[in-house]
Amino acid sequence: MSENVLSGRYLVAGGAGFIGSHVCETLLNRNCEVVAVDNFVTGSPANIKTLLGNKNFTFIEQDIVRPLSISGPVTGIFHLASPASPVDYAKLPIETLHVGALGSDQILKLALEKRASILVASTSEVYGDPLEHPQKETYWGNVNTIGPRGCYDESKRYMEALTMAYHRVHQLSTRIVRIFNTYGPRMRVNDGRVVPNFCMQALAGEPVTVYGKGDQTRSFCYVDDMVDGLLRLMASSYFKPVNIGNPLEMSILQFARKIIELCASKSTIQYLPLPEDDPKIRRPDISLAQELLDWRPQIGLDEGLQRTVNYFKSQRSHL
Ligand code: NAD
Ligand code: UDP
Repeated sequence: MSENVLSGRYLVAGGAGFIGSHVCETLLNRNCEVVAVDNFVTGSPANIKTLLGNKNFTFIEQDIVRPLSISGPVTGIFHLASPASPVDYAKLPIETLHVGALGSDQILKLALEKRASILVASTSEVYGDPLEHPQKETYWGNVNTIGPRGCYDESKRYMEALTMAYHRVHQLSTRIVRIFNTYGPRMRVNDGRVVPNFCMQALAGEPVTVYGKGDQTRSFCYVDDMVDGLLRLMASSYFKPVNIGNPLEMSILQFARKIIELCASKSTIQYLPLPEDDPKIRRPDISLAQELLDWRPQIGLDEGLQRTVNYFKSQRSHL
């Protein structure tokens, strides 16, 4: 795959989060300047600790729901700020709706002021509990607006609509990425998502908690592949939504067994109730990203999970 070329000064909203901190790091490695903004609601100062000494990196602690003033030019904005784990957004439903609606509006206004390109991070959750499989960008979704996931799904659907409105009314240079389940180092150990839960449980030799029968499916993308996709999309001029994710689909029970094996763990499996509205199947159709961006995942599941397990091992010593 050809290298995507980005240069200039980038703002990363949600830059102290899991994916955001990897975006910052990759941009810095490619000699871009980076300004990260984050309020640490689900992110962590530890994620950007190694970046703080870099002369091309600036950090601003702020809630992006409030007006944001950035001095100097901005070439592009990556808007990744939002709680993303179902456990996080169930605890923070109002903050989640506000950042998707009001925070996105502030960030889009800033892009307009700076004449910057902006990439907004949407999600496979806009497809809800999908009735089409695999999910293509043309599918409109099956979302329960008033269920426990509604705060997240609808905030992202609103953000997509708002982004298209700025594009149509102001000719703003916009990109919309629909991110599918992504994993890797710097996920919070206790964010409640399946990868940290299973890795931490398997490493501790505790029961691995499978919700429902574990026959629901997901498709997991390693974070380096995701960041490569986000940068390629930013470097393009395509303004409609693009799925980025790994199409390798598996059941959650298979996934639990894989992690137990990779951790060489003696953990057993404990079945717990399936959360309300948990999507039964999910797999991205990535033909658009392949055609448009010449992008496809490069890191195999075993390799990505091994790196992730090593990260969680290192985190256990801080507990
Ligand atoms: P994360 O929780 O690790 O990162 C989100 C970051 O945004 C955190 O650092 C948080 O503190 C910050 N943030 C939240 N609200 C904010 C606000 N009001 N002001 C400033 N900062 C704020 O989650 P992540 O997994 O890195 O997700 C990043 C983005 O990608 C999110 O927008 C999420 O919806 C999207 N996404 C992620 C996945 C995934 O599998 N990781 C899947 C689909 C979509
Ligand atoms: N899950 C599970 N056990 C856990 C955490 C999650 O079985 O300890 C399941 C969850 O029900 C869902 C899948 O794993 O079907 C992925 O959950 P996650 O919270 O990572 O993200 P989602 O894809 O649901 O947004």
